[in-house]
Amino acid sequence: MSFDYDLFVIGAGSGGVRAARIASGHGAKVAIAEEYRVGGTCVIRGCVPKKLMVHAARYAEDFADATGFGWSGQQKARFDWRAFMAAKDAEIARLNSLYIKGLESAGVEILHTRAEFAGPHELYLVNEERTVTAEKILIATGAAPFVPHNVPGAAFAITSNEAFHLESLPKSMAIIGGGYIAVEFAGVFHALGVETTLLYRGKQILRGFDDDLREHLSREMTRAGVTVMTHANVDRITRHDHGLGGYTVHCANGETVQAEEVMYAAGREPYTFDLHLELAGVEMAANDAIKVDAFNRTSAPHIWAVGDVTNRAQLTPVAIREGHAFADRVFGGRDIPPLDYSIIPTAVFSHPEIGTVGLTEREARARHGAVDIYKSTFRPLKHTLSGRGTRMLMKLVVHPETDVVLGAHLCGPDAAEMIQLLGILLKTGARKADFDATIAVHPTAAEELVTMREKQPATD
Ligand code: NDP
Repeated sequence: MSFDYDLFVIGAGSGGVRAARIASGHGAKVAIAEEYRVGGTCVIRGCVPKKLMVHAARYAEDFADATGFGWSGQQKARFDWRAFMAAKDAEIARLNSLYIKGLESAGVEILHTRAEFAGPHELYLVNEERTVTAEKILIATGAAPFVPHNVPGAAFAITSNEAFHLESLPKSMAIIGGGYIAVEFAGVFHALGVETTLLYRGKQILRGFDDDLREHLSREMTRAGVTVMTHANVDRITRHDHGLGGYTVHCANGETVQAEEVMYAAGREPYTFDLHLELAGVEMAANDAIKVDAFNRTSAPHIWAVGDVTNRAQLTPVAIREGHAFADRVFGGRDIPPLDYSIIPTAVFSHPEIGTVGLTEREARARHGAVDIYKSTFRPLKHTLSGRGTRMLMKLVVHPETDVVLGAHLCGPDAAEMIQLLGILLKTGARKADFDATIAVHPTAAEELVTMREKQPATD
């Protein structure tokens, strides 16, 4: 049987683009379909524009901090949201065209259309109203913001998708959720002068992160002026009429928050809507994700899935690794072992930012019993003059017998940069003694990582 393509990739985000380029490089005839913009969530409406927003927001703090170093006049600085949006959009357009060029120069055919399964090897191209065939298919459709359907008025809320295109900065913002996106956007909007309230349904934000990190960030956000409401189960959202308009978020405990804009940041669900997976024999897992094995193969032997649509670690670098490995295995004949998901360094670009890798103290105790904890909180040198009351947290979780560092958790300036390097150490099984034997780089915040000597009591 002959097919139009050796490989058809659905979704031109991080995972799909990498897989398409590498497979084409191995000699496969490849097409990739994208219904929105080539580059996917990370480039178009995720990590990259978010990080640019984080940079924009940090200037507010830098201007304020500069006074302590003898600067003056910067208090008159004004932020122009529209100018920033235009610059951000231009950069995203540049990256979008680079992605397109990269695919084209690799010989991949780009189809600017939604693609849906019409059979095991058939794909219906919606915009082009035609069907094509492919021997092998990769699903890389990512995930989309989740908004609960059972909350009346939830449709009034924006999601991160819209937050990247606001016409103007609202005076006030209520953000529902307590994960990556909620804390990141809360930090950005607050620093840009928006009165920001974060409503989290549980006891402490960032469930799944180390408890000390969660408390530290919550304290820092509150100190900076973000209102962090916990146990805030949103019941309904109503539109109110106070001159400028806006909304009221009603919580089950009777508390209410009024804000000009409401944003849901309550997780992202695998984007499989109307893909007609059943026509191709592709099974779903319980969490609405596409079920895959350790090599990203679905229940249909000629179909694979990578990235957020598999709902394992919803992180760009993971999707890229999976897509690359898929193409090398299936089209390059390479024997690539399954990806190790156990040690993934990650950053949260909150204010201040978080870097974390390995086991939390709680996870380490559950797995190994007692563990050794090294912990330090301190005022970064810069803030002795800036006067900002912020503190940095550094924590290492260490195996008591083997001395292997099981987890590293940081919150403070440059934590994201530090955690990339700590990731290498944890990946290679570094011991606390190796940290201790390393000469400090002075004066830095990172030197604290090699000078912590006193074991701290366990956190309850
Ligand atoms: P997260 O999974 O990080 O957090 C979701 C949050 O929403 C949790 O606090 C969760 O609460 C809460 N929540 C879930 N359902 C509801 C509901 N029905 N009502 C109210 N709150 C609810 O998702 P995000 O949307 O923040 O981000 C999606 C993913 O994108 C992340 O998991 C991350 O992998 C990725 N991402 C990574 C970034 C980075 O690397 N810096 C940046 C942004 C996103 P609870 O904890 O109680 O379940």
